[in-house]
Amino acid sequence: MAKLYFRYGSMGASKSTNCIMVAYNYKERGQNVVIFKSAVDTRSHTGFIESRTGMKWPCVDFTADYRFSIESVKASAGMDRISCILIDEAQFLTEEQVLQLSDIVDYAGIPVICYGLRTDFRCEFFPGSSALMRYADELEEIPTICWCGRKARLIARIAGGKMVKTGTQIQIGGNESYISLCRRHWKEEKLG
Ligand SMILES: [Zn+2]
Repeated sequence: MAKLYFRYGSMGASKSTNCIMVAYNYKERGQNVVIFKSAVDTRSHTGFIESRTGMKWPCVDFTADYRFSIESVKASAGMDRISCILIDEAQFLTEEQVLQLSDIVDYAGIPVICYGLRTDFRCEFFPGSSALMRYADELEEIPTICWCGRKARLIARIAGGKMVKTGTQIQIGGNESYISLCRRHWKEEKLG
């Protein structure tokens, strides 16, 4: 039975690497797979997802007004048969898009695997993560480690060498950076 998966983690949790490896495994078995990536992520190149380990895979960039249906996915991917749909940067999906993807799982029987952040730098849900946490069949955490060795579930936004906890969820074209911290060091604002 096909399922809707949400594999979440914080920054640096190898989500894109994991996504590309799943695509590779499908392709190796002669099955068609398509990766979608949110166009909100302006830091990465369009048309490709790239991992920190140097792996690359072609993808379809989608915006908030894209409507996911089996027909639209086949047309966007240029494929007449699809075995699996992968979504990178799934935190930027709208709730409506998460429901559209769940329809593909329920009515077309195609598995959909979403990779994304659980929360933002304020420890608030992204719209896509909130909807996936509620609608997904399977939730799986991709862990990453704080500088102290504890599990790093929270994200720190760093601007001008300092951690900031207020501001807009998505900062387009900003020069801030992000790291993952454990809860204690996030609260204490200790960057290591
Ligand atoms: Zn820590």
